[in-house]
Amino acid sequence: MEISKTYDPSQIEKKWYQFWSEKGYFTPVTDKTRKPFTVLIPPPNVTGILHMGHVLNNTLQDVIVRYHRMCGEPTLWLPGVDHAGIATQNVVEKQLAAEGKTRHEIGREELVGLIWKWKGEKGDRIIEQLKQLGCSCDWSRLRFTMDEMLSKAVKEVFIYLYNDGLIYKGKYIINWCPRCVTALANDEVEHADESGKLWYFRYPYQDGDGFVTIATTRPETMLGDTAVAVNPKDERYQHLIGKELILPLTGRTIPVLADDYVDMEFGTGCVKVTPAHDPNDFEIGNRHNLERLLVMDEHGIMNDNAPEQFRGLDRYTCRELIIKQMQEQDLLEKIDNHELAVGHCYRCDTVIEPYLSDQWFVKMKPLSEAAIKVVESGEVRFQPERWTKVYMHWMNNIRDWCISRQIWWGHRIPAYYCNACNKMIVAKESPAACPDCKGTSFRQDEDVLDTWFSSWLWPFSTMGWPEESEDQKYFLPTNILITAPEIIYLWVARMIMSTLHFKGMIPFDTVLLHGTVRDEIGRKMSKSLGNSPDPIDIIETVGADALRFSMVFNTPKGADVNYTDAMLESGRNFANKIWNAYRFIMMNADAIKGLPQRDELELELADRWIYSRLNEVAAEAKAHYDNLRLNDAAQALFKFIWDEFCSWYIELSKDRLYSAAPDSNPDKAALTAKYILLDVIQASMRLLHPIMPFITEELWQGIRTHFPMPDESVMIAEFPVSDKQQIDKFIADEMAFMQESIVAVRNLRKQVNLPPATEIGIHIRLTEAKQQQLFNRYESYFRKLAKVTELKAETGLQKPPASLAAVVRNIEIFLPLSGLIDLAQEKARLSKQLEKLEAELAGIQRKLANENFVKNAKPEVVEKEKEKLVEVSTKAELTRNQIVNLN
Ligand SMILES: [Zn+2]
Ligand SMILES: [Zn+2]
Repeated sequence: MEISKTYDPSQIEKKWYQFWSEKGYFTPVTDKTRKPFTVLIPPPNVTGILHMGHVLNNTLQDVIVRYHRMCGEPTLWLPGVDHAGIATQNVVEKQLAAEGKTRHEIGREELVGLIWKWKGEKGDRIIEQLKQLGCSCDWSRLRFTMDEMLSKAVKEVFIYLYNDGLIYKGKYIINWCPRCVTALANDEVEHADESGKLWYFRYPYQDGDGFVTIATTRPETMLGDTAVAVNPKDERYQHLIGKELILPLTGRTIPVLADDYVDMEFGTGCVKVTPAHDPNDFEIGNRHNLERLLVMDEHGIMNDNAPEQFRGLDRYTCRELIIKQMQEQDLLEKIDNHELAVGHCYRCDTVIEPYLSDQWFVKMKPLSEAAIKVVESGEVRFQPERWTKVYMHWMNNIRDWCISRQIWWGHRIPAYYCNACNKMIVAKESPAACPDCKGTSFRQDEDVLDTWFSSWLWPFSTMGWPEESEDQKYFLPTNILITAPEIIYLWVARMIMSTLHFKGMIPFDTVLLHGTVRDEIGRKMSKSLGNSPDPIDIIETVGADALRFSMVFNTPKGADVNYTDAMLESGRNFANKIWNAYRFIMMNADAIKGLPQRDELELELADRWIYSRLNEVAAEAKAHYDNLRLNDAAQALFKFIWDEFCSWYIELSKDRLYSAAPDSNPDKAALTAKYILLDVIQASMRLLHPIMPFITEELWQGIRTHFPMPDESVMIAEFPVSDKQQIDKFIADEMAFMQESIVAVRNLRKQVNLPPATEIGIHIRLTEAKQQQLFNRYESYFRKLAKVTELKAETGLQKPPASLAAVVRNIEIFLPLSGLIDLAQEKARLSKQLEKLEAELAGIQRKLANENFVKNAKPEVVEKEKEKLVEVSTKAELTRNQIVNLN
């Protein structure tokens, strides 16, 4: 069997993904006697292209899913794609714009048709990319939020909630993007601190002389003012309450009223009230029955409610004109600089406008109660635990959810209006006749639902609800949701609410919130910064395994990742190390014919040690995977495979392997070494498979040709169960003693720069007689790993002349140098070195004795000199000892 010298993931990864897929391993076999393990994918957008955030999120999911599958649980990772309303419509609208067309020109039906066409051709690209990453989702259950099944659930839920009085239509101040021409949810608005201005305007009294001064950050909205408010406790303004003012530039008369909401500290303490353009003013307006005067249209252009000279102006042009005119009329008192948080559209970055419009809402308070309880009781747990507080805070201050969007791509609201009498009917289909006027002509509500209105039903809409289904019975509630904390409100909290309300159960019992992938200097990765590598490029160069391992290995649970290209080296080097070990083992397995039974092995120290460690690591890895400490699992496996197995065990096995001449009858020692190498590496591949699925499969298939392994794939093999019988602390300690001693000998060699091939003899002074047996027995380890051809270990042994010494535990190791190096020459070299060090030392001492230097130099410079003094005198002392040792 020919194994290539270097590891080439591109030759391997596609092949095994296809193999798994053809074998049907991604689809769980339901078994009523066993508890399933279920994970719901946070559905990526249909427009999505794999980015580093997806890599982290989906790697964590796949590791957990693969681990549970190997533990024998019927495991379902349910995949899907989100139709991503605004994002997707924007992509197609951009294409239209390139052809000089707008959506309004082509109309609703054609636009929606174009988006479906786009989805068919270019959408779902991310699904193929997730496969490249190795994700073991059950693709036979792939869902799309606009599928017929999911759309049915959306309609059903809307109608249920409407009939229960939990959905209503109302006028409301919402966040409006004048560019996208749609309402945005609070969470879709990104706030940025900006330096703005505060304009102080005078509003004259209607009767007689005088005025009040109000301050505003958005002068253009004054055209929609319908009152001025003061705080009822404000002593300064008691006399104003009830007075009438003239609203400049409009000639309208508006009252001064008192409202608790007014902050006496802000501006002058008198505030303008614009119910149609500010959410707080909207509330004040409701309390005082004020008119809501909308002065802008949906594009942010001043409308007919504004005085004629402002009509048709953009909101910012209007602002300039207002300031100019107020100044000309001596009504502009002053302008202050003012820091304020400005809301921007998360899609297009346009400054949002609080805007009064007809929208649909879900009453959230009644839904939130049960969702608070299940987290309080611990039925649903957030990890890391700190997110519980964030969740609770939001749930306790929950506001109604604006679910209507003024776009065309999405689930259209199932409300119909009678064309004759305007009666509204909420129904699955257009009604046959109007119950009021018997009219038969209807128009459907133009709006579509917020994208999250379909994804909040994800746990059960994907499994066929509202119909009953076996999947719902078997897989719900799911086990764990793994997602980014940014969508804890938008998605996680809402799924908990909907699943409790419609299924009467929690959607999942654990929510693992992972960190953000950042660049080297801690900035969030983004398209506009251009600081995000393309994960597909990475996969195509170093392989998905290396990428996955690097992410997991370097990311503690819940922490952010600061990605660097250097970080990838950990995964790439690890894959190469595994490959080299595999190649070595397979070459020897080919050369040594035959394989003993497990009970025929002749175990020596290293063998018992590696089995002891393997079983310890199996227990550790299981605990880490179970507790979602994937990074600890990766670290433990790395240490075991790299250090203990590759660097120590394989090296220690070489003697025995090489003792078997090709084609002759191999001895027990060689067969034992062969058996254990194969056995330990196959178990290691099972432990590592969840993190590095491809390379572990490639090795598994090769190892199977030499070693009895019934499972045709590592993906469905059993996750190793730790055998406590094989964990032996005594063996582990003996082995550690040998390792420390070998490391000490290697260090002695380094002290005099012995070439690696130079053979040496060592003398060991023991303190206990029983140690002698140990060193004699494992003399070969010293020969193999430190080129020790002669080992003398005794109690009461004298230090040989001209030798280097090292202490390990309670023994002393000597390396006699005569015959290895020219002692006279070495002594001369060391003496020269010592001379130099002493001169340097004297120089530093002189400096520090100089009062002027100590007084005038910067303290850190003096400190540095003092450190140097210690360092150089230590070196000099060492050199002096070395010279003494040569005698
Ligand atoms: Zn926008
Ligand atoms: Zn009617």
